[in-house]
Amino acid sequence: MEANSLRELLIGELRDLYDAEHQIIKALPKMISKVSSDELKNALDEHLEITRQQAERLEQIFENMGEKAKAQKCKGIEGVIKEGSELLQEVDDEDVRDAAIIASAQKVEHYEMAAYGTVRTWASLLGEEESAQLLEQTLNEEKEADQKLTEIAEAINVEAGEGEVEEEQPRSRRGSKSGTRSRRAA
Ligand code: FE
Ligand code: ZN
Ligand code: FE
Repeated sequence: MEANSLRELLIGELRDLYDAEHQIIKALPKMISKVSSDELKNALDEHLEITRQQAERLEQIFENMGEKAKAQKCKGIEGVIKEGSELLQEVDDEDVRDAAIIASAQKVEHYEMAAYGTVRTWASLLGEEESAQLLEQTLNEEKEADQKLTEIAEAINVEAGEGEVEEEQPRSRRGSKSGTRSRRAA
């Protein structure tokens, strides 16, 4: 889309986000099906529900601005999701897999936080106050999801690491970084 004004740029970014939210709605159930921790599973289930509301909120924003709710392929989030699913395929250990899922989910949240922060500010600059407030609401939800994941990661990353350093005989190195292990052996 060619954008010659801030308004056109904003509409383009909103269409990108509209697609991004739908990609996330499609990808999250696959991710959740691979989670072992109940706490992580609940957090992602909850965020999936919130994500559906965020997609609807974008429809409300398009309506506010007198624009059609159209999606424009978000290559950024497509790459982030693809990288995450590739990472999971390499991991056998369930704690390590949960750590990988958190890492990839947090990349998604940070991508969204950057994008929603920008469109919130642009909407506000253009006098679209109602839309700016809705975008701020989504931005805050993404931040909350990110913080929740950081909290869960504190426990899970420790367990994922412990599995490695306490093992007497390394059975399999697949999916683990040799650095942690060799530190103990040294
Ligand atoms: Fe979202
Ligand atoms: Zn994008
Ligand atoms: Fe999100």
